[in-house]
Amino acid sequence: MAQIQRIADDIVLIDVHYSQTAQVIGCYLLLGDVPALVETGPASTVDTLLDGVRQAGLDPARLRAVAVTHIHLDHAGGAGVLARRFPHLKVYVHPVGAPHLIDPERLVASARRLYGDDLDRLFGEVVPIPDERVRVLDDDATVTLGSRRLQALDTPGHANHHHVFWDAAAADLFTGDAAGVALPGSRYVRVPTPPPELDIPAWAHTLAKIRRLQPKRLLLTHFGPHTWVEDLLAQFEENLYGNLRMVRDALAADEDEDAITARLRTAALRAIEARDGPEASARYEVIMPIRQSALGLIRYIQKTEQRTEKSS
Ligand SMILES: [Zn+2]
Repeated sequence: MAQIQRIADDIVLIDVHYSQTAQVIGCYLLLGDVPALVETGPASTVDTLLDGVRQAGLDPARLRAVAVTHIHLDHAGGAGVLARRFPHLKVYVHPVGAPHLIDPERLVASARRLYGDDLDRLFGEVVPIPDERVRVLDDDATVTLGSRRLQALDTPGHANHHHVFWDAAAADLFTGDAAGVALPGSRYVRVPTPPPELDIPAWAHTLAKIRRLQPKRLLLTHFGPHTWVEDLLAQFEENLYGNLRMVRDALAADEDEDAITARLRTAALRAIEARDGPEASARYEVIMPIRQSALGLIRYIQKTEQRTEKSS
């Protein structure tokens, strides 16, 4: 059964209980003229999501739209199943992500490289969405979801096809993965840097863009509302560049993937324990395994910095 939490008169946070773990993936139900979801979570948890919609007092057949911050399976993997089940549903997505919702084959292959045999169990069946059901949102485009007017903002870094959704009237920002992973009750921010699209300079611009908005509240997919906005963003930035430096130095010392992963893990454990106590790190590992963040940084450095060195 889904856990739900009303975070505004017209917004309900639904915990889809990904991988039998509370508070790692949340979807936002926006009630109002256009009942809608921001994020679907994976296909494997769609039934839990719909249970949450019902608990919030809405018949899921009344949902009209889904907006996804990006197409990674933990955010949008369930969109195809929902579109198939509810013929009126439109799916709003970044232009670069749209083709992969219509034909998810490459997306699934890329996820399989990271998750291996666990992929199907964790994420379920990824169903293609007919293209007439997909609505592209360009940078700055606005869309009504629930009773709110949201602005889609291009925010690359974690992925090259990432939007945040900005509600200027309430100063609420739906961040997807652009502001990192911070679980309820925790004061630690994990930087999700999986391959293959990680782009650090782009992420720096994204961070500046988020700060300029001066949001009062960050609504994270992983997980929930956070009001310690400045500290969260500052720690995010510190951890992003700290990890980048650590991986760069380790590569220069010819360390392999396992050694680099162990190095990042030790640093993360130290940071989490210092803030949240010794038991706190397991849930972070469920939603953003350290190894994936290590692989993303290794690949990013090899692709950008080492190539530049060789050509200079
Ligand atoms: Zn992602």
